[in-house]
Amino acid sequence: NAPLAEVDPEIAEVLEKELGRQRDYLEMIASENFVPVSVLQSQGSVLTNKYAEGYPGRRYYGGCEYVDIAESLAIERAKKLFGAEYANVQPHSGASANAAVLSAIATPGDTILGLELAHGGHLTHGMKLNFSGKLYNAVSYGVDPETFLVDMDVVRDKALEHKPSVIIAGWSAYPRQLDFAAFRAIADEVGATLWVDMAHFAGLVAAGLHPSPVPYADVVSSTVHKTIGGPRSGFIVSRDTALAKKLNSNVFPGQQGGPLMHVIAAKATAFLLAATDEFKDRQERTLSGAKLLAEALTSDESRAAGVNVLTGGTDVHLVLADLRESALSGQDAEDRLHEVGITVNKNSVPFDPRPPMVTSGMRIGTPALATRGFGDAEFAEVADIIALTMRPDADLPGLRERVAKLTQAFPLYPGLQQ
Ligand code: PLP
Repeated sequence: NAPLAEVDPEIAEVLEKELGRQRDYLEMIASENFVPVSVLQSQGSVLTNKYAEGYPGRRYYGGCEYVDIAESLAIERAKKLFGAEYANVQPHSGASANAAVLSAIATPGDTILGLELAHGGHLTHGMKLNFSGKLYNAVSYGVDPETFLVDMDVVRDKALEHKPSVIIAGWSAYPRQLDFAAFRAIADEVGATLWVDMAHFAGLVAAGLHPSPVPYADVVSSTVHKTIGGPRSGFIVSRDTALAKKLNSNVFPGQQGGPLMHVIAAKATAFLLAATDEFKDRQERTLSGAKLLAEALTSDESRAAGVNVLTGGTDVHLVLADLRESALSGQDAEDRLHEVGITVNKNSVPFDPRPPMVTSGMRIGTPALATRGFGDAEFAEVADIIALTMRPDADLPGLRERVAKLTQAFPLYPGLQQ
């Protein structure tokens, strides 16, 4: 039982360096966050040793009396947080939650209708190399070429044309809110099951700052590690229990074996924290930071540098920078921002003229920095730094210093050693 540094110095070094990287850079990947130390504790706990196939009270292994408590707490807290009657907290990830959902509500060969990957959809919503595109007949709706918004008339036309058995609402890169009531009406009109994947915006929903899909959807899936800021994992909720048996059996034994009990315990804590005023304040800062960023990237100076913002702004925790008119590609922008100490990801914009490994866009998110403590003043400074980085005459070393001031003023995991 020697410490990691002795047993495996190479991996110990990776952990230490990664902690240093997270401390020294401004994390603006929209799908990332920083878990609280309480969550790290559960994830690094002895619960990782326990096999617990089955569900609380109905396990295939002995000795589950304590992990049952953890899972029951996670289930009850998820239900309360999202106003749901049913929750399954076992999915190892968002993708496994989605695989279980699809296998519960569709049969291989069925038609599923989701947002086009290149327009902000997710791999699990029908991409051809993903299980969702291989097992199901995946068709898609895109965003409007002028407004870059999802047009519900188009969704309805596609639904009437293809008669899908499942309609998917949800996204990985879209800066606005979807109209869940309109999706519900279309699903009812064509007799489809409505599945909402709220992986990205679940934290905003939990804080009451984004409409909840739960009253409208037949089933809702999510990750825990994006805006919620919990452990890397997934979960499923539903407003009624009609699908409960099917969903449960499609998670286990359908998709998974033993649940990750250390992660489930950490989910319980994340859901507990997500019901607090502090969490709501964090989500408010997340949203207002994203708005400040959108403003900076739509200023006259940004436009003169060929930078724009898709849909002209944001209602959520991310901004999609449109670089189609910029000399910088998405890859160039990602590299330049890395040089000044800001981590983002390049992202194709809909109808992107550049190839997917280069792209003409950037997805920039504010959840991790809000967790780090940033408010409007710091987000305004970050927005200015990002806008300046995009200009041809940018003083990159000077901007790196401005980033360092921010990272020093908001220490991450003070006192933590890996
Ligand atoms: N669903 C959506 C909308 C996502 O954006 C993501 C992750 O990017 C997932 C599902 C998959 O989550 P995971 O990476 O945990 O499998």
